[in-house]
Amino acid sequence: MRDLNPVNGLPFSQNARPFLYGGELDAVAAVLDSGQYGHGEVTEHFERAVADLLGVPDVVAVASGTAALHMALAVANIGPGDEVIVPSMTFCATVQAIRACGARARFAEVSPDTLCITGRDVMDTLTPSTRAVVPVLYGGRAADLSDIHETLADRGIAIVEDAAHAFGSRYGGGRVGAAGLLTCFSFGPIKNVTCGQGGALVPRTPEEAMRVRRMRLLGMAESPAERARSASYRVEGFGVRAHLSQINAAIGLAQLANFPVLEAKRKQLWRQYESALTSVSGVRLVDVDVDRSVPSLCAVRVPDRDRVFHALQACGIGAGVHYPPNHLQPAFARWHRPLPVTERIGEEILTLPFHQLMGADEVRTVVSALEGALR
Ligand SMILES: *Cc1c(COP(=O)(O)O)cnc(C)c1O
Repeated sequence: MRDLNPVNGLPFSQNARPFLYGGELDAVAAVLDSGQYGHGEVTEHFERAVADLLGVPDVVAVASGTAALHMALAVANIGPGDEVIVPSMTFCATVQAIRACGARARFAEVSPDTLCITGRDVMDTLTPSTRAVVPVLYGGRAADLSDIHETLADRGIAIVEDAAHAFGSRYGGGRVGAAGLLTCFSFGPIKNVTCGQGGALVPRTPEEAMRVRRMRLLGMAESPAERARSASYRVEGFGVRAHLSQINAAIGLAQLANFPVLEAKRKQLWRQYESALTSVSGVRLVDVDVDRSVPSLCAVRVPDRDRVFHALQACGIGAGVHYPPNHLQPAFARWHRPLPVTERIGEEILTLPFHQLMGADEVRTVVSALEGALR
């Protein structure tokens, strides 16, 4: 039997990695045999499976989380001259999606305990040009802005959630994505569920769903199946090449079939870290609200982070930094404003190896190496 998840070295030498459950190989082979690699039935089955899991009427699958964010902002009519509030503490993809629309990013602080933006942070950052807010569900934790939903709606400010970390997490009475907001997911290689590469967006209305379905296929009105039977096609608006290939959708479907296993495993792993870290002084664990979340990473704040990072790397432990703040990046320098809380977090943040090939033994090894590095 072929080893599905071969480890090169020790499991904790990688900060994150995908996990295969076994159905992926046959599912991909079936698509390869079909000769239909573009958007197709398998993609639509994947959309249905995601919608069912989230408990929402519809989901639009796209090529990546970044494309989902870009198209979500575009269907929310964000464009040149508009200002979009975004936490600086996020992956650069969130900010590039704003830039792709021609809009301006206005960087906001986050709570130092959760690394998620709060209603307070948004209100402190708002200007008369603000047209959208993109909360990032850091580590898998729902970002609760319900205290300002009404205020934002009154001012015509859209919420586009970056839930790249939070697939399967709970919010209110349902899953993240089911609260009536435009919510974007990533199914990239190291996310909770992977398609290899992929993403999805939860539209707010059938009209919005239709617009995104058109936009992801270069603005063409006909589906690929309709085009195959027609002598022409109509291009009806702005579009990008961002459909989800059937090859990627097949991987995602096989992964989703194992969702309960991954949900339990990722919660268990995070709790193992939580209990192992209680005895380590000088380390602050970033809380993900594990009872409600499917964690996607284990982040801590430590003094002298760069030294600790290199000490762990030297022991073969795949420490990471999620993330260097975006307002300090050259590409986004024009939107720089001082953000003292985020700057401090940016110097302290460290992510520990977190993926499904790890177990209690690996967590203990990582935590004792961390203890050693802190001494
Ligand atoms: C991964 C990620 C994205 C982008 O998703 P891709 O599928 O890699 O394009 C956006 N935001 C955050 C917070 C992410 O972690």
